Formats: sequence, C-alpha cells, structure tokens
Amino acid sequence: MTFYEDLSPYAEESEDTFWEGEGTRMVTFTPRYTRVNVGWLAAGHPFAAGPPPLGFVEQLDRILHGQYVNAALGTHPCELCDADDDTPGAPRGSGEIRVPASPLEVFAAPFLIGHYVQAHSYLPPRPFIDAVLACRDTWRNGPPAPWLPDDAQRLDFEAGD
Ligand SMILES: [Zn+2]
Repeated sequence: MTFYEDLSPYAEESEDTFWEGEGTRMVTFTPRYTRVNVGWLAAGHPFAAGPPPLGFVEQLDRILHGQYVNAALGTHPCELCDADDDTPGAPRGSGEIRVPASPLEVFAAPFLIGHYVQAHSYLPPRPFIDAVLACRDTWRNGPPAPWLPDDAQRLDFEAGD
C-alpha cells in the first residue's frame, strides 16, 4: 500500500464513492470537504505507537463496519505483518473510512487502520482520535446529506447482481 504521512492532504482518489441502500447503490461525488490522511502505514516507515484512550478501539471498529468508501475490487495484505498477496490468513483490507474533523474537513483512513491499532499498537494523531470518539453515526446507509453535492452520481444495482 502506498505510504502517506499522517495529517498530509489526501490525494489517493479524486472522487469519493459511498454505498447506500444496504449496499445496492453507489454514490460518487467530488468532495467539497478537504480530506486529511491518517493511518496509511507501510513497511519501512516508522509510526507512533502506544495505548489509545478508553473506548477508541470499539468506536473505530463501529465505523469500520458501518462504512464502505472507495471500496476496491482487490484487497491489500498488511505489510507490517510481513504478508504478501500469497500469505494465507494475512490481515487484509479494502476501502477506506471518512471521519468528520470539522464541517469542511474529514479524515481519510484505510480500512486496515483498525488492524494497525490493535495488532501493531499504531497510535493515530490526537485530532483523529478525538474525531472518532466524537463520531455519532457511521453512515451505514450512505454519506451525510451535508456532504453530498447536487451533482452526486447514483448507480443502482439490483439485489443479486
Ligand atoms: Zn499487520
């Protein structure tokens, strides 16, 4: 996976794609919010480690299981586990999450961030921890309305496709 410094500007994808309607509709739009990278770890790049505050792991896990942003067809194995594409049982992740930092700024983290915290003691920057603890919703059914521009593209899939 590509390494990005924590709190650097996100430039992985120009658009954001969420799923809504219980996974039957793709919603794609050019974000009006600024995206800030967190947790894009990779082998060979040192990162902060330490115990997170109480409740952080559970709250992050809730977000990770409620959002599907920019989900790709493939998955990335965890490089920190020294895994590669052929390693059986390696922790893998696909897609990203969005956590609001302020009305016009969101944190953009890869799905593997939950594994990094729990298995590799990765300690994300404090502003991200605070944003996760303050996050009231996971938007399991699509992105929040204030995030959606009028020209968001919706693509529906029939169940079973
Ligand atoms: Zn790992």
